Amino acid sequence: MGVAVLQARLIESREIAPEIRHFVFDVPEVEQLPYVPGQFVSFSGVFSEKKITRAYSTASPPCGNRFELCLNRVEDGFFSPYLFDLKPGAMIDMKGPLGHFVLRHPPNDTIFVATGTGIAPFRAMLLGHLEANPDRQFTLVFGVRFERSLLYRAEFEQLTGHYPNFRFHPTLSRPDESWKGLTGHVQQHVLDTLGDRRDMDVYICGMKAMVDDMRARLKDLGLERRQIIFEKYD
Ligand SMILES: Cc1cc2nc3c(=O)[nH]c(=O)nc-3n(C[C@H](O)[C@H](O)[C@H](O)COP(=O)(O)OP(=O)(O)OC[C@H]3O[C@@H](n4cnc5c(N)ncnc54)[C@H](O)[C@@H]3O)c2cc1C
Repeated sequence: MGVAVLQARLIESREIAPEIRHFVFDVPEVEQLPYVPGQFVSFSGVFSEKKITRAYSTASPPCGNRFELCLNRVEDGFFSPYLFDLKPGAMIDMKGPLGHFVLRHPPNDTIFVATGTGIAPFRAMLLGHLEANPDRQFTLVFGVRFERSLLYRAEFEQLTGHYPNFRFHPTLSRPDESWKGLTGHVQQHVLDTLGDRRDMDVYICGMKAMVDDMRARLKDLGLERRQIIFEKYD
């Protein structure tokens, strides 16, 4: 049996960084939209008489029939510019949530590695699972080019104050002089976080080039396949 098509309704969207928006949707025909943080929804629409389908990771844990997304506008893309221009109240065909990019249960000590909007599923996982797992270490290594593109920074900083088992390591590949934090790509900082440990799980999300490079480096260090869990956006 196929997955049912639902109608998602845009509640609101707001810019959270240049060319990046946070979206809130609901699904009016259901009271609850059950899913596991990190799963994605599959949106479809017709563009130039062609049906186009795109996946978007949930950026929030389940909450009634609502879910949140985080998207960047791909220049000359089909779906992301369409979503950016959508007005509150607009309906969109949706399947899901789907997919297996979810936190192992029970979790091991974990490193989350994200670049850009690859942060979305980790926001969902942290908001959904930190509270219930006080005996596990969670480290988020988040890479973007510029400080202004550190999505949800205030939220993650707040979580570090609240949960002693959570660490947040933002890194900028194009910092300006005032930046005092980590610089460069995420990969090296993940290896530094891992140190001598080989018993942690590493979850990776973002574009293929980063994800593949990160996976190769972790394999070289001796991490097993089941410890490296990833989602590629392209
Ligand atoms: C499981 C899964 C989850 C995803 N979750 C998200 C998400 O939470 N947020 C999000 O913004 N995107 C996400 N994507 C990517 C998304 O599905 C689309 O590919 C993206 O929005 C571009 O679609 P488009 O029709 O606008 O452009 P297209 O015309 O399809 O895209 C053209 C180019 O954009 C590149 N591209 C794809 N995604 C991105 C991106 N995020 N940033 C820059 N370039 C990109 C592709 O490599 C392609 O070359 C996810 C993809 C997958 C497979």
